[in-house]
Amino acid sequence: MKTHARVVVIGGGAVGVSTLYHLAKKGWSDVVLIERSELTAGSTWHAAGLLPLFNMSYTVGQLHKYSVDLYKRLPAETGQDVSFHVTGNLRLATNRERMDEYQKYCGTANTIGVPFQVIGAEEVKKLWPLVNLGNGGDTPNIVGALYHPDDGHIAPADLTMALRRGARAGGAEIYEQTEVTGATRTPSGEWKLTTNKGEIIAEHVVCATGNYARQTGRMFGINVPAIPVEHQYIVYDESPELKAYRAGGGRELAVLRESDKSYYLREERLGWILGPYEAGAPARFADGVPEWFGKSLFEGDLERLLPHVEAAQRRVPALEHCGIKDIVNGPISYTPDGSPLCGPAWGVRNLWLNEGHSFGITAAGGSGWQLAEWIVEGEPGIDMLATDPRRFGAYTSKRYTVAKNEETYKEVFTIHFPDEERPAARPAKTSPVYDKLARMGAVFGQRYGWERALWFAPPGVEPKDKWSFRRSNYTPHVGNEVRLMREKVGVIDLTPFTKHEVTGPGAEAWLDSLVANKVPTKIGRIALCHALTKRGGIRSEFTITKIADNHFYVVSAGAAERYDGDYLRRLVPTDGSVTLTNITGARGCFVVAGPRSRDLLAKLMDAPLDNKSFPWLTSQVVEVGLAVDVYALRVNFVGSLGWELHFPIEYAHHIFDSLFKAGAEYGIGMVGMRAMESLRLEKSYRMWGSDMTRDYTPFEASLDRFVRMNKGPFIGREALERQQAAGVPHRFITLEVHGVVDADPLGNEPLFDTKGKMIGRATSGYYGHTIQKSLAIGYVKPEFATVGTELTIEILGERKKATVLVESPYDPDNADLRA
Ligand SMILES: Cc1cc2nc3c(=O)[nH]c(=O)nc-3n(C[C@H](O)[C@H](O)[C@H](O)COP(=O)(O)OP(=O)(O)OC[C@H]3O[C@@H](n4cnc5c(N)ncnc54)[C@H](O)[C@@H]3O)c2cc1C
Repeated sequence: MKTHARVVVIGGGAVGVSTLYHLAKKGWSDVVLIERSELTAGSTWHAAGLLPLFNMSYTVGQLHKYSVDLYKRLPAETGQDVSFHVTGNLRLATNRERMDEYQKYCGTANTIGVPFQVIGAEEVKKLWPLVNLGNGGDTPNIVGALYHPDDGHIAPADLTMALRRGARAGGAEIYEQTEVTGATRTPSGEWKLTTNKGEIIAEHVVCATGNYARQTGRMFGINVPAIPVEHQYIVYDESPELKAYRAGGGRELAVLRESDKSYYLREERLGWILGPYEAGAPARFADGVPEWFGKSLFEGDLERLLPHVEAAQRRVPALEHCGIKDIVNGPISYTPDGSPLCGPAWGVRNLWLNEGHSFGITAAGGSGWQLAEWIVEGEPGIDMLATDPRRFGAYTSKRYTVAKNEETYKEVFTIHFPDEERPAARPAKTSPVYDKLARMGAVFGQRYGWERALWFAPPGVEPKDKWSFRRSNYTPHVGNEVRLMREKVGVIDLTPFTKHEVTGPGAEAWLDSLVANKVPTKIGRIALCHALTKRGGIRSEFTITKIADNHFYVVSAGAAERYDGDYLRRLVPTDGSVTLTNITGARGCFVVAGPRSRDLLAKLMDAPLDNKSFPWLTSQVVEVGLAVDVYALRVNFVGSLGWELHFPIEYAHHIFDSLFKAGAEYGIGMVGMRAMESLRLEKSYRMWGSDMTRDYTPFEASLDRFVRMNKGPFIGREALERQQAAGVPHRFITLEVHGVVDADPLGNEPLFDTKGKMIGRATSGYYGHTIQKSLAIGYVKPEFATVGTELTIEILGERKKATVLVESPYDPDNADLRA
């Protein structure tokens, strides 16, 4: 075994070997893979080999598409067949909500270029003659289906071998029967890995250890939220009906998914493989894989499979006539949101994860492609936030992860409504006033482990969501909250915000080198600042306030605590000139906004609040009632007169109660996250993570006013210069969508010109309750960005007319904000 390598990949499943292959493809030949047993010995050998292109995530959808394209090329490139059966994939729908889900997905598929067809029951029968279209009773009628003609299934071991050949051709080396047992840092900052075959030193380490992710993580001191769940499939004997169909010249049947009964079915040697996602499948190996497990499987649990087997037999009666040959029950890695962990680890340099894959055969190609790009180029080529391991935080305790992963597994096939909020492992993190909000009728959702009030049910209304792709039971109440905020005064609890304190003589210069805007130089000033990638894309958004000399308060999205914190910690100067402290848990935040917010706060604060004394985009350290050391920031994300109060957490109840007591005469009320969505879209405010991602530069996002090209160097500046010279490929727009009855845009809808050519995508959308318009924001080619341009948007399969509006359709001159 070599003693040095530029990269060591740990784990020889499809994912690890694909990562190795892509590193070699990018020209890094000094790369090795270490496998404790033999290649594919983890989950890869027993995978069913399905390659579903279907994925609701814009990012994961792109990874799957890349994989399918790659796997078709691999045999010619490597000389190794991969048994890719391009059978197509047929997903059945037995109700309107399911069709809505497919149609929502089609928007994403369109924007990433995945071919698909939405078909009716007769076409289903033509494609799949052995299917029972339903009897309206115990076999629900098929109302339609989603068909992907381009995917199918593959032999996972052959795929891994083809990737191995390709990697070796690029100079990579693979050591089997070699187990990594420990990791330390060398004095020069490289990794020293201990194995049963000796030591190896590497600049970068990639963990691709599947079910072993937890114990691998422990070697590096990190708690990886990937815990496997049992997953089974049944292998059937030959099916007489299938044999007859094939003997009659029928082509191999598409992989069939009856989503509403939670199973997939595919041909296997003239018989079948049936794979359900059952309720009650337990998480395994939360503390690590025991030594005895090796290449083993679990006992099959037919009891758990039975409801799905019966449903499948009703849908495909041919199943009744074949015997069961085998039950394969193996561990399948899961994460709390079901997407993999592909990207940098946190808190340590040059450690990369490609773990937590539950569709790892499908995602191996794409995740290896992007991770290799990230390692070699320093940036992924597409927005990878949805797989970035740092999207999770310290809250992913063992019990949390077990509960969430079991839930995610069981919900694989349930309809994923855009407003769905799953109940497992909740409540976990709560704001101090959580109980008060609950008593006020709050319906909560969870983000980054935090409970956040989505909307408030008024007295007499049940505080419960009815999830939908369309306007729903909560829509009128959200509208009332929006109007309350625009007409009176509302409070939003934004305690989950990520909050960092940056202090020291080097604080200002350091922050300035990270962001495109000028960091405030005057005490009390606030600046909205964007940290860019080297390619100029938007990686983070920070609201930076200068509290005092050498003291900055840096606020970013609640879900970005680890993502931003890790980034800042990596770059903080080591000469002691800057101290970076995460104070997320130490301060709470209430937004107090609306035309009466000044009158209300004047009753609790001595600081004068008139425009001259407390202008927009400034802050003061104030007392609010009995509370001291409150950072009052005259900014907000709703576009009304208002302040964000960032207070020491121990004052949460006092400030909350004082606000409601003093605000009673002004009609104060709580406002939830869904109203905030409506309010911010009326102002065209971009949301980090959906509207602002590394796919778009601040110029594309029309955030030019937050970029100071001549202030000195900052990360991403050269890329912006190049883009300025070459021309900006996209422009941000706000759209009014016409003719909406009940389905507003929600993001990821394709945009077309009037001739039907796709020219962009919506990144968010909602109903603007004040201006009473259905709104979308997104990106189009520059020639379509002029105010008044007529476009078309596809929402749940229907094309709707849309018009480009002036930015910030509510109060474009910011008169309210400056009132
Ligand atoms: C029953 C079943 C059916 C499935 N069907 C499908 C499907 O149809 N389509 C699909 O896309 N996915 C499917 N999957 C999921 C798929 O199997 C996994 O997502 C995929 O195999 C993960 O690949 P991997 O490379 O991440 O992990 P693995 O294949 O588990 O590989 C990890 C490797 O790391 C090695 N390793 C661990 N620790 C160390 C160490 N310290 N030192 C050296 N080596 C180490 C292990 O020995 C192992 O070989 C299925 C899973 C199951 C259980």
